[in-house]
Amino acid sequence: MATSSLSSSCFNNPESACRTCGGLGVHKLTHPELLIPDPQRSILGGCFVKEAFKYNPDTWDGHVMYSLSKVLKFSLDTPWEKLSEAVRNSILYGIEQKLRMQAPPDTKVEREKWVGSDIGFGGIAHRIERYYRRYRQRGEANSGMEAWLDKVMVEHTCPDCKGTRVRATRLLSRSTAKRSTMLASSISTSCTSFWGRSIHPDGRGRRPASPA
Ligand SMILES: [Zn+2]
Repeated sequence: MATSSLSSSCFNNPESACRTCGGLGVHKLTHPELLIPDPQRSILGGCFVKEAFKYNPDTWDGHVMYSLSKVLKFSLDTPWEKLSEAVRNSILYGIEQKLRMQAPPDTKVEREKWVGSDIGFGGIAHRIERYYRRYRQRGEANSGMEAWLDKVMVEHTCPDCKGTRVRATRLLSRSTAKRSTMLASSISTSCTSFWGRSIHPDGRGRRPASPA
């Protein structure tokens, strides 16, 4: 990991840092098994990590989830693992069509403005990923936020740049001046060895004898 990000930084200049990962080389995606730690529970029974979603018929989220259950014809009482894959995917990653808002029968507050309106539903997992991107763009230190995001997300190599368009500042920012110098020299060393590997005196890569 360290070696690959060092050698990949050879190709970088600040303008070319990847937009998808912001030059971090990795991005985080929610992982369903982390988001739903106990799939034997239902949505009503609190199957989600509570920061991600907690059913309450009086809230906007509660109205949305109830309306979704009516449109997709599933029960909020069904254990998560018993819901069809299509339904689970819709809950996590959203639906294409607009969702007409309905009031849950057990709501204690009337939300006349909500009911009957058509809204987009992007899914619970996508919403967390949006939070995460916004949080990272602002660059705020918020350890509470980070802790709960870490509970439900896993790091992936950036799908767009494959971790190759990393900002050099990411490597240097936390270092002291002395460490920066050491790092800079190790970057140039790894560039040399990277290019060195691809060039052979006879123009061909040396390969071990094949085990015919
Ligand atoms: Zn990237």
